[in-house]
Amino acid sequence: MLTNRSQVVSKKEMTLIEKMYLPAIFSGMWITFTHLFKKSATIRYPEQTREFSGIYRGQHVLKRDEKGAERCTACGLCAVACPAEAITMVSAERKPGEEHLYREEKYAKIYEINMLRCIFCGDCEEACPKEAIFLTDRKVDSFYTRKEFIYGKSILVESKDSPIDLTKRQTPDVKEFKLDKHYAHNQTFDKNKKTKVGGHH
Ligand code: SF4
Ligand code: SF4
Repeated sequence: MLTNRSQVVSKKEMTLIEKMYLPAIFSGMWITFTHLFKKSATIRYPEQTREFSGIYRGQHVLKRDEKGAERCTACGLCAVACPAEAITMVSAERKPGEEHLYREEKYAKIYEINMLRCIFCGDCEEACPKEAIFLTDRKVDSFYTRKEFIYGKSILVESKDSPIDLTKRQTPDVKEFKLDKHYAHNQTFDKNKKTKVGGHH
């Protein structure tokens, strides 16, 4: 015996009532019947949804900078930090004239997240030195095939016309913390900025 947690199970003889089974069946049916009048613990998702926490971590976004260029420099730190090995990428070198597309000299030609592997821990967001990847309050859609859960840049990179507002999932404390660290990603949305944004872009 390796631990003292094991228990000896005795084989108790069943009584006559127990051998008849019917009392146990009626007892079970009574429990089922009483549940008909109790408030259901389940909801009809996805038609109905519960209210999520303000810091809910959902579908990722790859952010653009204030000029619309992709922030990600394909450094791979998010992939290294990811405990689920859900992130893969292929880097490429920015060519002259592509400065408006990519912020850094190296960028992610391919960037994919396997949403079936992802556990939405947020480590990729924490690891990113370029404020490029964030989890948002959006839910990942349901699909019928595994392939559709591999999210590429066409889904992950935010649209220039409708940038993703990250302030929605920031509590005042989190927002203050990020401002203190001179994070600039919410500049577009933060009307009441308290500190001047520094050089960490
Ligand atoms: S949220 Fe966590 S599991 Fe999902 S991609 Fe980021 S680091 Fe990986
Ligand atoms: S998202 Fe951030 S950490 Fe990941 S490759 Fe791009 S710049 Fe690096």
